[in-house]
Amino acid sequence: MIKKQLPPGLHIDTLAVRAGIDASQYGENSEALYLTSGFLQPDAATAARRFAGAEEGFTYGRTSNPTVTAFENRLAALEGTEAAIGASSGMGAILMMGMGLLKAGDHVICSNSMFGSTINLFAKEFGKFGVETSFVSQTDAAQWKAALKPTTKLLFAETPTNPLTDVCDIQALADIAHNAGARLAVDNCFCSPALQRPAQMGADLIIHSGTKYLDGQGRVMAGAICGPSSLIVDVFGPVVRTAGMVLSPFNAWVVLKGMETLRIRMQAQSANALAVAQWLQEHPKVARVYYPGLASHPQHELAMRQQSGLGGAVLSFDVRGGDPEALRANAFRVIDSAQVISIATNLGDTKSIITHPGTTSHGRLSEAQRQAAGIGQGLIRLAVGLEHTDDIKADLSRGLEML
Ligand SMILES: *Cc1c(COP(=O)(O)O)cnc(C)c1O
Repeated sequence: MIKKQLPPGLHIDTLAVRAGIDASQYGENSEALYLTSGFLQPDAATAARRFAGAEEGFTYGRTSNPTVTAFENRLAALEGTEAAIGASSGMGAILMMGMGLLKAGDHVICSNSMFGSTINLFAKEFGKFGVETSFVSQTDAAQWKAALKPTTKLLFAETPTNPLTDVCDIQALADIAHNAGARLAVDNCFCSPALQRPAQMGADLIIHSGTKYLDGQGRVMAGAICGPSSLIVDVFGPVVRTAGMVLSPFNAWVVLKGMETLRIRMQAQSANALAVAQWLQEHPKVARVYYPGLASHPQHELAMRQQSGLGGAVLSFDVRGGDPEALRANAFRVIDSAQVISIATNLGDTKSIITHPGTTSHGRLSEAQRQAAGIGQGLIRLAVGLEHTDDIKADLSRGLEML
């Protein structure tokens, strides 16, 4: 094995390509993919010590794998946390967090504009096991404070939100959580550590869907939790070992290599998104654009402070129309006229992706619930990729000109 100790104080760009795990005895320069479910043990006594946790060493793929460890170490280095633990998907990571931290009778506070599956996981699945969740305004910290109970264990936020890009104040929510003896977890999917490092603003745990910008090329499902070793190793490790929402080595390897280009992709895609948002804002067929990088965004200053001065790569916009049916027809026309942009339900890809939240991600809500969430039938979400912005604008123009 070729040992190489990294010096302290390295920049995030360096960590993204260097942090991980030592090379094997073969000295590979690019990280190896260890596609194995079991690991050879030198003898029975060593196996016994490793299984008892008395000695370090790989045993079985549900417990750990060198490629998964490399992914975890690199992600923790980027987020600036002591440790990280991989999961099969972003939702697997949130499930792991809930199983590790919560028990029947505990209370959780979440933003009411969290990712739809997250809302369902807390309201429906954890609800079945006696965990109670209150849903409050994304942007009004006073509502989070007012929702606190003696049993509150966790505040869980996501910023910016999907699809309307509402931004919450991470430091303010961390203070509210800590004053009440609770923890703050932040889903950092949309910004990634290239733009936003919630641990520096007081968050205790950071959730990732590696499926999105960490992979960055729309290839595999992955997830992770970042945080202090006391929780990652001692609380979540046993959960993943027994419950099995483990990250596959192949997916870990894909995302590990994806992270090497994370910052330059996030910068380039944020710049593209800003250019498209500015253009849409001036378009006569567009009623409103939601993008944290625009001065017109209600939390623009907070977003710029929290997100390294960049808006991220996801924006939404309302097309003009009339009643909900006319708005939906107009939105569909814009989406269906795209010849370059993909119609798909992912985001975080180098390929731009367009969706109609009102009939997809938020299609199962009632019209009243959708209106309360601000998701009209004329709303379109665009996750901006790496194509030339002139081509993205031309692609959107095709449909917009028809309205
Ligand atoms: C996609 C997404 C998730 C879920 O991640 P999966 O990898 O799809 O399970 C969680 N949070 C946010 C903000 C997401 O966009």
